[in-house]
Amino acid sequence: MIRCPACGAENLPNSLFCEECGEPLIHEEKLMVKLVSLTEGWKIEMPLEGEVIIGRADPATGFKPHLDLSDKGGVEKGVSRRHLRLFRQGNKVYVEDLGSSNGSFINNRRLLPFSPEPLASGDEVRLGGEILKIYLEG
Ligand SMILES: [Zn+2]
Repeated sequence: MIRCPACGAENLPNSLFCEECGEPLIHEEKLMVKLVSLTEGWKIEMPLEGEVIIGRADPATGFKPHLDLSDKGGVEKGVSRRHLRLFRQGNKVYVEDLGSSNGSFINNRRLLPFSPEPLASGDEVRLGGEILKIYLEG
C-alpha cells in the first residue's frame, strides 16, 4: 500500500493518484546502502527506508542501533552508542553526527553534530577510528 502525503489514505501500490483526494502519490525508489569497513574488512548491505543509526547497543537501556558495531571493534575505535545516522529524504541521502564523543567525518571533513550533510555513493565516512566506505545502490 502507498500512503497519500496529503490526506493519509492508503492506496493500492500501483496507483498514481490518491483515490480519496486526487493528490499525486510519491513512489520512492528502493535504495540499498552498502557499508564497507576499511579498518576491519567487513561488508554489510541493508535497505535504507527511513533511517539507519550506526552505533553500539546499550543493554542497560535496551537501545539497539540498526547497525551495531559492538562486536566489530566499535569500543576500541571510539564509536559512540548513538554515533551517526543515515537517512533519506525522497531519493537524497544524508549523514548526521548524533553528538558522538569522537566525532564523525565525511571525506576527512568533520561533521558538525546534528547538522546533516548530503552523502554521495562512494563517500568515506569516519566514526571515531572506524572508516567506512558507503555505497548507495538504487
Ligand atoms: Zn489523499
